[in-house]
Amino acid sequence: MTAAVTSPIIDRFRAFLDASPTSFHAARFAAQLLEEVGYTALDETSAPSPLAAGERRYVLRAGSLVAFRVGGMNPASAGFRIVAGHTDSPNLRIKPQPLRYEHGYLRLGVEPYGGVQQATWVDRDLGIAGRVVLRDGRSRRAGLVDIRRPLCRIPTLAIHLNRSVNDDGLKLNAQNHLPALFALSDDKTADPFRALLGEELGVSPKDVLTWDLALYDLTPAVVSGLNGEFLHSGRLDNLGSCHAGLEALLAANDDDVPATTAVLALFDHEEIGSTTERGAQSSWLEHVLGRIVRDAAGDDAGGLSRALTQTWLVSSDMAHAVHPAFGDKHDGEHMPKLNAGPVIKQHTAWRYATEADGAALFQQLCEDAAVPSQWFVNRSDLACGSTVGPLVAARLGVRAVDVGNPMLSMHSAREMCGTQDQARMAAAMRGFFRG
Ligand SMILES: [Zn+2]
Repeated sequence: MTAAVTSPIIDRFRAFLDASPTSFHAARFAAQLLEEVGYTALDETSAPSPLAAGERRYVLRAGSLVAFRVGGMNPASAGFRIVAGHTDSPNLRIKPQPLRYEHGYLRLGVEPYGGVQQATWVDRDLGIAGRVVLRDGRSRRAGLVDIRRPLCRIPTLAIHLNRSVNDDGLKLNAQNHLPALFALSDDKTADPFRALLGEELGVSPKDVLTWDLALYDLTPAVVSGLNGEFLHSGRLDNLGSCHAGLEALLAANDDDVPATTAVLALFDHEEIGSTTERGAQSSWLEHVLGRIVRDAAGDDAGGLSRALTQTWLVSSDMAHAVHPAFGDKHDGEHMPKLNAGPVIKQHTAWRYATEADGAALFQQLCEDAAVPSQWFVNRSDLACGSTVGPLVAARLGVRAVDVGNPMLSMHSAREMCGTQDQARMAAAMRGFFRG
């Protein structure tokens, strides 16, 4: 029997996945990795201060992060090389008043976030993670929690009581069937959920004001398959792209400072449409880029718009590999395969921000990195998904390409991808950052 093979980048990828049960944790973990190689936090409220060539900064806003390395040329002339992805994944969010007492059970009320494949969340060991806002005198402070132990479960109904389940599929009503078992209790005078959070954060339960918390599958990321060809984990969409971009930026540390300014933009809230204060439709990235131009080039009126004319965006989001049992769901000439390289995604209505010039750029990046690339175009008779690519490209007015590594089980609680593609995407992105 062949032992599962692994590689340093896959070990780092698994560590990133396991440390990132929510977008808040993903953005914070990325910031920590960047700090280890010399990136420092940029305070968005601080007064302008000069940025020199090669300087490395990041801006963290809850579950979103923008990191950059200033290029050797004035960004107003040389532009940006932006890699963008999203930190959030579909999951089940715990409601503000979650306690539901039914038949002697205490369940936690949840609301689906994004396009959850609901049936994949049942009969799993679920932990709880996210952001909690605490009372701090007359003010407030936020803390992250990751309660990494089996606390909740959404139990299936026995087949004896649901005889048609294999013919009809497991149909779950989000309001009635998804609330998660949390305890055996009918003591309505207590608030054990708030008490749990207080204990985790070392504060009195009365100082726990409210939260952005989600359930998550506790199973760690694993390498699988006869020859270690697969990786199984939650949240591959889109932590796979976030990690590839991060690997590329970290590796670029060892490269000479190129003319262009490298930017990694990891957005929260893509799965719910991106129209939030830190989402891809917000003005946030535009403001950060404006600040880079001003701080790096002096107060240069019109500098940002000149920079954007020279800018390229690589938007990365996971792609649909062909499924062995459902090959007819793909266009016959556009069937991405696992471990066959990064996928370039195109859609005529610009659900993907790809045209020929961007696709050709990415093909050459792959050639330069000696990695294969593939194409994905949706079947013409199926509706197409989307990414942050069109939103960021349209908002900034920049040329773009949409790419992503191939995967199966997208939006399941437990997704899968290939183990060869991560290094390839990171290599192509590293070449992109070289300008
Ligand atoms: Zn995605």
